[in-house]
Amino acid sequence: MKIALIAHDRMKDEIVRFVTAYQPVFEKHDLYATGTTGRRIMEATGLKVTRCQSGPLGGDQQIGAMIADNDMDVVIFFRDPLTPQPHEPDINALIRLCDVYKIPLATNMATAELIIHALERDELKWREFVRGHRDERE
Ligand code: PGA
Repeated sequence: MKIALIAHDRMKDEIVRFVTAYQPVFEKHDLYATGTTGRRIMEATGLKVTRCQSGPLGGDQQIGAMIADNDMDVVIFFRDPLTPQPHEPDINALIRLCDVYKIPLATNMATAELIIHALERDELKWREFVRGHRDERE
């Protein structure tokens, strides 16, 4: 599975702790991240992470493009709900695309844990089916 990891600045310590705690699960998957989030995760865990641009510089849009291409299976996005972001339109667009394409999206740690447990139990296998069958370019 391809998993995207994104965290706003005030949430970066939290996502690093989260990925560290579930490292045995994450290391079985292909990880993608926005720039700084990816660097922080790699430094802390040694996991291989494919890094996009930093969020404010287009990273959210790059991950959105992967979703639109049916090339991303899970998005874990620790948003900061208390701080305005300069790239709010990109954030909204990314969340919208998750809804358009029915991509499992966690915007906080509680939901992220549910998704990780589902991954451990192979409950997201349906994504492989969808990935193999959907090509609905219009
Ligand atoms: P970053 O981007 O990982 O490069 O900080 C995330 C964001 O702030 O949107």
